[in-house]
Amino acid sequence: MPYTAKENRYEAMKYRRCGRSGLELPEISLGFWHNFGGVDRYETGRETVLSAFDSGVTHFDLANNYGPPPGSAEITFGRILKENLLPYRDEIIVSTKAGYAMWPGPYGEWGSRKYLTASLDASLKRMGLDYVDIFYHHRPDPNTPIEETMTALADIVRQGKALYAGISNYSAEESAAAIFMLRSLGVPCLIHQAKYSMLNRWTEDGLLGVLDREGTGCICFSPLAQGLLTNRYLDGSIPEGSRASKGVFLKASAITPELLKKLNALNAVAREGGRTLANLAIQWILRDKRNTSVLIGASSSAQLKENLLSLSQAPLSADELEKIDRILS
Ligand code: NDP
Repeated sequence: MPYTAKENRYEAMKYRRCGRSGLELPEISLGFWHNFGGVDRYETGRETVLSAFDSGVTHFDLANNYGPPPGSAEITFGRILKENLLPYRDEIIVSTKAGYAMWPGPYGEWGSRKYLTASLDASLKRMGLDYVDIFYHHRPDPNTPIEETMTALADIVRQGKALYAGISNYSAEESAAAIFMLRSLGVPCLIHQAKYSMLNRWTEDGLLGVLDREGTGCICFSPLAQGLLTNRYLDGSIPEGSRASKGVFLKASAITPELLKKLNALNAVAREGGRTLANLAIQWILRDKRNTSVLIGASSSAQLKENLLSLSQAPLSADELEKIDRILS
C-alpha cells in the first residue's frame, strides 16, 4: 500500500523533553505489547500505526517478547517500516527491550551481557534496522550484578546499536543505582518506563523524585489500565474481542462492583468536562510535567483517535483534579 505521510502531521502533537537530554518525545506514544502480533490482523495494526504517525506520534515502543508469538510484534513493525515508514526513519523513535523470557536455557532472559547483546541483535534483525533509538533493560535482575547489566547497555550504545539506554520496572532505589552506574560509564540513562495510571500511582512514592533529580525522563505504560480507564467495561459487561475477554493479562474477575463504581464516578467527571474517560486518564497523567510521555495501546485507529483528542482538550482544572483524588482515595 503506497503511503505518503500527512504534511500537517506536526501541527497538533505536543512534545516534551525527555529528562535532561536532547530528545523530545510526543505526549502520546504507541506501544506494541498487544494488537500487533502474528495472531492479529496486519492491516488493522498498520492503519493504527500510520494514523498515529500522521498525527505526530513519532515514538513506537516494542520489546523482544511482544506478540504473540514472542518476536512477532517486531516482525510486524519491520514490515510496516519496510512497506511504508522507512523514508521517515529519521522522524521516528523506535524502542525495544530485553529482560523477560525469550528463548530456552539460562541465556534467554534476565540481565546478563550474553542475553542483552544477543537479544538486541535478534530484535534488529526482526525489524530490519541497523539501530534502535532506545534500548531498555525490561526488568531488574536480582541475580546479575548491576555493573554487568549497565556495562552491557553502555557498550550497546557505544557500538551504535542503540542511541540511548533506558530501564523499566526498576524501583526508586534500583533506578538510582542504575542511573549512577550508567553515568559513571559515560552513558546517561535517558528514560525509565514505568506502569502508571489513575489506578496505579506507585511512581509518585519516590521514583519520580529520583528521575527528576537525575534528569531521567519517565514514560508511563498501561495508562488506561489496559482498557479499564475507557468506556470499554463501564456497564459491567465484557465486550467480545476486548482484552478482558481474552483473560490473559486482564482478567474479567478484576472488574469488581467496587471498581465499576469508581470507574463510573471518574467517567462522570470526564463527561462534565466534555471528555471521555480515556481522555481524562491521559490528561491526568500529563498534569505532571515529570511524565514525559503517555504510552498507550490501541486495538483500532478509532481508539487511537479518541485518545489523541485528549491533547486538544483543556488541561484538567484544580477542581477536576480534586474530584478525581477524592474518588481514587
Ligand atoms: P493501555 O492501558 O493504553 O491499554 C490499551 C488497551 O486499552 C487497548 O489495547 C484497548 O484494549 C483499550 N483501549 C485503548 N484505547 C481505548 C479507547 N479509546 N476506548 C476503548 N478501549 C481502549 O496500555 P497497554 O497496557 O496496552 O500498554 C501500552 C504499552 O505500554 C504497551 O504496548 C507497551 O509498549 C508498554 N508496556 C510496557 C511494559 C513494561 O514492562 N515495560 C508492560 C506493559 C506495557 P482492547 O483490546 O480491549 O480494545
